[in-house]
Amino acid sequence: MASRDHENSQPAPVRQHVPDAFFKGLNLLLNEQPDKALNAFLEAAELDKDTVEMHVALGNLFRRRGEIERATQIHQNLVARTDLDDSLRCLALFELAQDYFKAGLFDRSESLFQELRQVKEYKEQACRFLLQIYDHEQEWHSAIVVAEELAGISNQDFSKRLAQYCCELAERAVSDNKPGEAEYYLESAFKYEEKCVRAAILSGQVAAARGNHLVAIELWREIEEWAPEALGEVVELISDSYAALGEQRGYRQFLESAIEKNPDARIISALVEVTQNRKGRIAGQRLLLEIVRKYPNLDGLYQLLRNRNAPELFKGESIDLELIATLLSQSMGQSREYQCRQCGFNSSSLHWQCPGCKEWGSVQKRVFSRERDAVGHKNYTVQ
Ligand SMILES: [Zn+2]
Repeated sequence: MASRDHENSQPAPVRQHVPDAFFKGLNLLLNEQPDKALNAFLEAAELDKDTVEMHVALGNLFRRRGEIERATQIHQNLVARTDLDDSLRCLALFELAQDYFKAGLFDRSESLFQELRQVKEYKEQACRFLLQIYDHEQEWHSAIVVAEELAGISNQDFSKRLAQYCCELAERAVSDNKPGEAEYYLESAFKYEEKCVRAAILSGQVAAARGNHLVAIELWREIEEWAPEALGEVVELISDSYAALGEQRGYRQFLESAIEKNPDARIISALVEVTQNRKGRIAGQRLLLEIVRKYPNLDGLYQLLRNRNAPELFKGESIDLELIATLLSQSMGQSREYQCRQCGFNSSSLHWQCPGCKEWGSVQKRVFSRERDAVGHKNYTVQ
């Protein structure tokens, strides 16, 4: 208590003089008159060249208005000053780095954020900007280093994102024809995210490219257990590997089991095709009809109608089947079958990074569920 009293008795620091024009500007800003506010602030800044924070605020105002050049000018002038103490200089640097970032000058922005990353108060914010830069520039190694650091200093979970970066590196290694390197990165991906669908798909592809089709099939089929919504992505790959092994029966068993977990259109067509090749056209169509009844879906219905071999589907109705087939085909083209779990972004193809919110690994195939169907909802909606 005594020492606190002592501290309290210290004289308050002398307040810097704040020009009236500043308060005028603040008032105008609060009254949502940003143009007039800007002029008032400029006037205030002119009158008092020592008020660094005011210059910073003014620069921010310009940046928010999209006037990046003016913002940069103001912040550059501050950084160039030699009389600033460390904390004010860092503040000005941080603002300037954001100006460059917003202007898309990532090289300049990066070097400033790298400098600020060494300063305790700016470490986390600087890392977050750096991560955006490396993500955008596809500098995956640097992105991994920064994401690791962020994982250590924030409460956020970066494991999914880190696994995706490793998959990016693995894909690059695959296209550079370096399977060993790809395997190394995929192992890292699994360390970050044990159930990384993308890493599982890629691992199988690397194994298949090495001629290890049994291993590849095993890797892909594991997806059936922990990520059935992704099964459609591997049907073709699995088909190729079973074909390379000359193992048609195994392939058929896979399809029969997969369709129970996820009646994806690709799985349905594959199963119908296999049945057709084995038992003939009629058997294939009969199976398709059975599947469509069990899992009502547009893709299956479309295939049925296109083949016109299932008149019992529309018993007693006279419908122009070709017309229906065309309509269904159109609506299938419009329906967005993939959705981001984070932001709800819809798309017709699989993105590993969501184009909407830039989240990694959040886009998934919509899966038909029997429970939902039981209460009257349909998997696909026609707009
Ligand atoms: Zn998203």
